Amino acid sequence: MRKRLLDWYRANKRAMPWRETRDPYAIGISEAMLQQPRVETVIPYWQRFLSRFPDVHALATADLDDVLGAWAGLGYYSRARNLQAAARLIDANHGGKLPDDPQTLQTLPGIGRYTAGALASIAFDRPEPVLDGNVKRVLTRLLGIREDIGQPAVVERLWKEAGALALGPDPGDLNQALMELGAMVCTPRAPRCENCPVSRSCDAFAEGDAAALPIKARKKSARRVEAVAALVVRRGKALAVRRPSNGLLGDLWDLPGGDLADGEVPRAGLTRALRARVGLEISRASAMGAVEHVFTHRRLTLHVYRVSTSTDRIRLDGFSAHKWVSPRAISSLPHASVTAKALDLLMPPAGRTPN
Ligand code: SF4
Repeated sequence: MRKRLLDWYRANKRAMPWRETRDPYAIGISEAMLQQPRVETVIPYWQRFLSRFPDVHALATADLDDVLGAWAGLGYYSRARNLQAAARLIDANHGGKLPDDPQTLQTLPGIGRYTAGALASIAFDRPEPVLDGNVKRVLTRLLGIREDIGQPAVVERLWKEAGALALGPDPGDLNQALMELGAMVCTPRAPRCENCPVSRSCDAFAEGDAAALPIKARKKSARRVEAVAALVVRRGKALAVRRPSNGLLGDLWDLPGGDLADGEVPRAGLTRALRARVGLEISRASAMGAVEHVFTHRRLTLHVYRVSTSTDRIRLDGFSAHKWVSPRAISSLPHASVTAKALDLLMPPAGRTPN
């Protein structure tokens, strides 16, 4: 099976620039970015990031806002912060070179079992397994595992099976072959078993239930949350606030606001949130509409306002910093995509001229 997987991978793999390099740092950046599933989206980000921060030392010594700015649009901003934190440790403790063993790799921020296995096998040729969603699906079908793959014992079994497959020559290619097969052939809803190099060894193919595997217990649906955000303007400047490092969308710049309490109407929530979180009183507020955004566990409706205030004395609660900038300059600070949606309502994207 190893040979068939490797032969298929070498003949069919998609061209990706990080597959053309042996530089562990460049491969590590691609692994962090590929949380965003669309490879075509990631390629230009990866190229720009590497030309801006070409090695561990450059990333370790960069300004965090520059790193977040280079990441803006990819989502999962904690990954960018973890990347820089890891680069600082590698620079300080490992002479700027990524360690090659998975145990040491897993001591670095943001590197879990999957990423450690991917780096060790792809960048350093070590026979270490990977287990992402694609590999889980392929192995579950190949082995005919008909139990909930959310159970820890099943996950452990899959790691063990992936570990057995990784043993042997070219473990990095073998791991990438499993991931590529999952992405291109053994797809979630309609696996193309007729084009599969390992169909002869596949239990689910023999049993005819591939599309029903893997079995996953139903997840709880995302919680609905309503919040308010405001472009607060005073003397032609707008207020930007920075989110704290250790929470959702940490260190990104944002419009001030906050979640609504149960049963609270948006306008009342706006007055309360601006008073409590930035210490401002509203002199005039215009509702600009609402945007929807889905986080992993939250489905957010964000009510967006343009607000005037007569005072510029700020008292922060729940934000780590603030600055007054021209309204158009807010969009050039590192910010999350939900903030970008709010800014699109407030300022048309072409030229970002304030309404
Ligand atoms: Fe997946 Fe079908 Fe190949 Fe089995 S035969 S591994 S189900 S694509």
